[in-house]
Amino acid sequence: IDWTQGAGWHGARVEPYGPITLDPAAAVLHYAQEIFEGMKAYRHANGGVHTFRPRENARRMNRSARRMAMPQLDEELFVQSLEALVGIDADWVPSGEGEALYLRPFMFSTEAFLGVRPAREFTYRVIASPAGNYFGGELKPVRIWVTRDFTRAAPGGTGDAKTGGNYAASLAAQAQATEKGCDQVLFLDPLHDNAIEELGGMNVFLVTADGRLITPELTGTILEGITRDSVIQLARDRGLQVEERRVTLDEWDRGVQDGTVTEVFACGTAAVITPIGELLDGDRTIASTGTGEVTQSIRAELLGIQTGTVADRHGWMHRLV
Ligand code: PMP
Repeated sequence: IDWTQGAGWHGARVEPYGPITLDPAAAVLHYAQEIFEGMKAYRHANGGVHTFRPRENARRMNRSARRMAMPQLDEELFVQSLEALVGIDADWVPSGEGEALYLRPFMFSTEAFLGVRPAREFTYRVIASPAGNYFGGELKPVRIWVTRDFTRAAPGGTGDAKTGGNYAASLAAQAQATEKGCDQVLFLDPLHDNAIEELGGMNVFLVTADGRLITPELTGTILEGITRDSVIQLARDRGLQVEERRVTLDEWDRGVQDGTVTEVFACGTAAVITPIGELLDGDRTIASTGTGEVTQSIRAELLGIQTGTVADRHGWMHRLV
C-alpha cells in the first residue's frame, strides 16, 4: 500500500516477491525513515492459521510512525494486509513444533528529496518467511554479552520505536557478543546505575525465590514488547506479583549469588520465551540460573495459546485464514 500527502493510503495489492525499485535520492536511504513489526502466523489446532494480538502490533507501528514523522496506518488496514498475504501464502505456514510463518510488516519513505524534513511519500509492505525455532529447538539457556561500550537508546531518543536505526546502532555490540561466543547482547543504562534495559531483540524478566517477576519499566528507551505484556498478564493470572521497575545489573548479580533470583528469561516474538544462561560482563561472569519452572510453564502456556492447545481466555488469537 502506498501513501502520498493529500491522497493518503492507496493502491493496496498483493504482488509476487521481488526487488523494489527506489530513486537514489529516496529519503529512506539517507535519513532512515523506516519502521517495522515482527509477527508470526501459526497453524492452529482448529485447522486455521492464526496470528497473535495483531492490533497490538498495529498500535505499536503507529506509535513508531509518530516518533519517526511517518503516516498512521489504520489498524483495520494493517490486519487486512496480513489476511491478504497469508490468505495467498497459507501453504507456506509450516506445521512442525515451534515453527511458524514469520511476518514482517514495514514502512519507509520513498520520496526523492535530499532536504532534511519529513518525507511526503511512503510505502507499506509485508513480507513473509517460514521460521523454525529461534535458538534451534531445545530450551537451552542463551549466553549473553553485557555491552559496556555501547548503549542502545537514551531518553527522548527512538528506543521505544521499532525503527531500523536502533538495530543499526546495536550491530557493533552484537558483533562483539558473537566474537565472545555469546548469542545476544544485554544493553544497560549507564545514566541510571547500569539499570538493565533489554537484549538486542528481546525483553528481560527476573524471577525471585518468593515468586515475583521483575522486568524493566517502560521509560521510553526500550521496546514495548507484546510478548512482555502477555507474560505480565499470564503471570498475574497465576497470582504472581509482577514488578515493572528499574532493576540494576548489580541486583541481578547479587540475587543470583544469594539465591533470591532463581530464574532469568528473555521474551519476544521470535524466540517466544528463552531462559538466559551465563552473563559475560568483561572479565566477570554472572552464573546461569538454568531453565526454571516458571520460565518453562509460562512458555508452554503461551505456545499453547498460539497453537490452539490451550484456551485463549484473553482473546489474543486472530484467525487470518
Ligand atoms: N526488544 C527489542 C529490541 C526487539 O527487537 C523485540 C522484538 N520485536 C522485543 C524487545 C520483543 O518484542 P515483541 O515481544 O513484541 O516481539
